[in-house]
Amino acid sequence: MDLHSHSTHSDGQHDVATVAQLMAREGVNVWALTDHDTTDGWVEAAREAKVNGMRFVPGVEITCNPAVAPEDAQLKSTGRERASSSWHLLAYFPNHHPEEDDPAIQAFKAWLAPRQDGRFPRMKAMCERLNDLGMPVSFDAVCARASGSVGRPHLAEVMVEMGYVENKQEAFESWIGDGLPAFVAHTKPSVAEAVEAVRAAGGITSLAHPLYYGVSTETLVKKLAELGVNGVEAVHRSHDDAYRFELMHHARQHRLGISVGSDFHGLNYQTRPGNMPVLEEAVLAELTLV
Ligand SMILES: [Zn+2]
Ligand SMILES: [Zn+2]
Repeated sequence: MDLHSHSTHSDGQHDVATVAQLMAREGVNVWALTDHDTTDGWVEAAREAKVNGMRFVPGVEITCNPAVAPEDAQLKSTGRERASSSWHLLAYFPNHHPEEDDPAIQAFKAWLAPRQDGRFPRMKAMCERLNDLGMPVSFDAVCARASGSVGRPHLAEVMVEMGYVENKQEAFESWIGDGLPAFVAHTKPSVAEAVEAVRAAGGITSLAHPLYYGVSTETLVKKLAELGVNGVEAVHRSHDDAYRFELMHHARQHRLGISVGSDFHGLNYQTRPGNMPVLEEAVLAELTLV
């Protein structure tokens, strides 16, 4: 089985039909397409899975705010410089047939829609608010200040430069701080919000590639259990056996299932999808039924 893969609907290299063929060629019998923050590939994927003799599980990888801060010791011991700035929550809807109309799934899709494309819409919206308030700010000028992801400090710098405020602090205290006139909330949900939205549509969740978050396995799994997450992606290509074992051990203690995914993005990145060693009885029961 392979419960984590991407197509051209997000940042994958291949279209849905090609991903399905590659999965089937590697002997995958249960396949989930989990594009980032979109369900656009589901109908085609369900059809292609059928053609290739696989069971299809509709999935999506939801970008969330981290639920636990990274720990220096854990980052060091896993050889990572920093933790990723968001947590990726895999959601699965094993009982949903994409060609059928389901109001609960429609509601979930409506919840998901504004979250696509990450943080750029938020900054654009804040620039528009400032424009309406008589302080035109160029979105491109703000982005030009950011080497990686763009945020409010970059916007504040531009506001100072344009002479709208004396300093960055004033920008935050008068205009762009939480709840102020030019403030637009993050589109990233908390893990708890995402869990709720998925559950309301009859789905289950599993935390993707936990290694990237720099949190010790016991703390992490305990928190997931508290948040109502159903499982953890213990078997991901970035995990060595010891880390997989640790996660499975704690998952069992906290009555969480596990999920397994190659996180396939394309043949340019990885040679093969599927081919993940896994104890089938540890996998979330909803996902193993063939
Ligand atoms: Zn991810
Ligand atoms: Zn992924």
